[in-house]
Amino acid sequence: MGKMPQYGGWAGKVLRVDLSTGRITTEDTVEKYKDYIGGTGLGYKVLWDEVAPETRAFDPENKIVFATGPLAGTSAPCNGRTAITTLWPTCWPKHLVGSGHMGGHFAAELKYAGFDGVIVEGRADHPVWLAIADGKVEIRDARRLWGQGIRRTTLEISRQMGPEAVVAAIGQAGENMVPMSVIINSVSHSGAGGAVMGSKNLKAIGVRGTGSIRIAGNREEWEKAVRYHLSLIGANNQIVVPSSPQPWAEHYNPGSRWVASRGRTWGAANPPIETGSCEPQNLNRIAYRTNNAAFFLGEQAWRYTVRGNGCTGCPIRCHTMIKVPTVASKYGIPEIGQSTCVRMIFGKWFFKSFPDGPLGETSIEAAMVGMHLADDLGLWDNYGQLQRDFQKCYSEGIFQSKVGEKEFRRYSWDKFEKGDPAFLFELLPRIAGKDGELASALGLGTGFMLEGWGISEEAWKSDRTLQYWKLGHPKHHSNEDAGQCGVIINTQYNRDAQCHSHTNFTRNGLPLEIQKRLAADLWGSDAAVDAAGDFTPMNVYKAKMAKWALLRKELHDSISLCNWMGPWSSSPLKERGYKGDDTLESLLYSLVTGDRKSPRELDEVAERIFVLHRALTIRGMGTREMRAKHDTIPDWVYGDDKDRIPFTKGTIQMDKDDIRKAMQMFYEEAGWDKETGVPTGATYRRLGLSDVEEKLAKKRLTA
Ligand code: SF4
Repeated sequence: MGKMPQYGGWAGKVLRVDLSTGRITTEDTVEKYKDYIGGTGLGYKVLWDEVAPETRAFDPENKIVFATGPLAGTSAPCNGRTAITTLWPTCWPKHLVGSGHMGGHFAAELKYAGFDGVIVEGRADHPVWLAIADGKVEIRDARRLWGQGIRRTTLEISRQMGPEAVVAAIGQAGENMVPMSVIINSVSHSGAGGAVMGSKNLKAIGVRGTGSIRIAGNREEWEKAVRYHLSLIGANNQIVVPSSPQPWAEHYNPGSRWVASRGRTWGAANPPIETGSCEPQNLNRIAYRTNNAAFFLGEQAWRYTVRGNGCTGCPIRCHTMIKVPTVASKYGIPEIGQSTCVRMIFGKWFFKSFPDGPLGETSIEAAMVGMHLADDLGLWDNYGQLQRDFQKCYSEGIFQSKVGEKEFRRYSWDKFEKGDPAFLFELLPRIAGKDGELASALGLGTGFMLEGWGISEEAWKSDRTLQYWKLGHPKHHSNEDAGQCGVIINTQYNRDAQCHSHTNFTRNGLPLEIQKRLAADLWGSDAAVDAAGDFTPMNVYKAKMAKWALLRKELHDSISLCNWMGPWSSSPLKERGYKGDDTLESLLYSLVTGDRKSPRELDEVAERIFVLHRALTIRGMGTREMRAKHDTIPDWVYGDDKDRIPFTKGTIQMDKDDIRKAMQMFYEEAGWDKETGVPTGATYRRLGLSDVEEKLAKKRLTA
């Protein structure tokens, strides 16, 4: 405790729970982890120091780290996400480091309970759950909860800890160690890693905290900074123009997630609420801008919208709540559902068509059934890869040929063909229960499914419709959103990239000439950005942008800011020329902690975190040939349906030589060896990672 009072932001302690021995200890956050801030930084540090490279995801020697950063639980906007770092069970062919990001209320509650993170290690000899209440920690028996869905588990733990407790739990999928499983807190906020919790016999973590977070800076300065941050915020994914003409708006873009407008109403609210024109200066109406149900499910979802919901301290409320009364009588599930992005369409994506069309009522019912089952069983869809795998295997007869007729006939394929949401009641519980060959294979994740069935990964990599990238995972905002920058980013992680820093800029909705003006300020030249689908050849400014995007992602995941919103490099403010503020993170971090860091210094910490992730990957793969063996790019990136050539308008196709050059330029910007893609000794030393370099050098894994 000795050092803590000098800093704000951090709660001060990291909790460590060994489920094999029942030993519960704490560590001083600042003393041990300050150089890595928190969140993913803390998670990578634990995995580097404590988990041997030959460890597999479900070994008791693997650890799972739930970590927050100094902004979690404060009044800084968009601070609600928890990083979950562990060896990733869907990473194929070897389990390498990965990190998931769980929204909701777990991060803030954990901080209020006195902890910046929880490191879980070992394996309990029977099912348990962890009760954390204001610094008091107990391992409790979960045998009665084992086998229950996430909703019932959450209710039972809330009954024991009080209704204000936040519960992060796994469902049957996690218990059964189905790699495609999630952890869910507050009933619907997911983060992957459920199977690792299951492998430790850990059913849930309940947290209750009544403490607060100290802000080190002057109160007025802090409040001013928060108001300033709010003024720069757009809609979800930092889109800064509305989707339709508005009285205040100079620009609009039909693809925008800023969907509020006069006449657009949350129809299931009581009474219904019109979203209105939502002027950017009206900070009290930010929550009306985004409606992810309407964005993902179509116009008809307005009728079912109850309100926006979301993570602690976030005005965006991207986790839209909808009420669809017909699903209660037709499918026996609750009429209320809530989620965001790909989980909103989890159920809908399995189907090719619906009887009343792609945007009809049945599609919304499928979405509701999917959300209900996925959130209760605790299933993950790997950014839609599960559904794409399912459709490909069905349409190409792979299921039939691999599982045999008897197993195949267990499913009512007529229901699937007709677009009947009831089909999901056959499929999803079987995936969660490892019931049969077909469902078990889907639950493994793409890489292990393909290996088990003797299908080459190349078959998946060459099919553009699958969007499969590598190591068992799909692309995440790649060339379609940011050309070479998107490609580079998608080469870097051991799961889908989960990086939005680049797309939150290139898809902000502003006209290209404004984006170019802002880009020149940020990365030194307007040549850093192109219009999506009208790309130009690689240049060094694009490499700078890629590095910036990756570092900001790690920074956000470590200080607890949502990378589904930040960085705030543009804004909706005409009077600012739509400029955001690239120094915002440093302002907030410095004020909250009292550890004054310039934007450059903070970016360097982010780089340390990012390079530690790289080092973990190098050590885990046991090779320094990262360029050839890790940073690979699927063939579909180099193809085009209409045979257009790269750098012509209308295609997102990339050119192979140009991408080779792009990788080279990125490695140079990052301070990595151009041939192998491993950080140079100078880079490790510049970032204070000499010990990491030494350890890798002993294994001949350095440049
Ligand atoms: S933008 Fe959405 S996911 Fe991000 S903190 Fe806000 S509510 Fe949560």
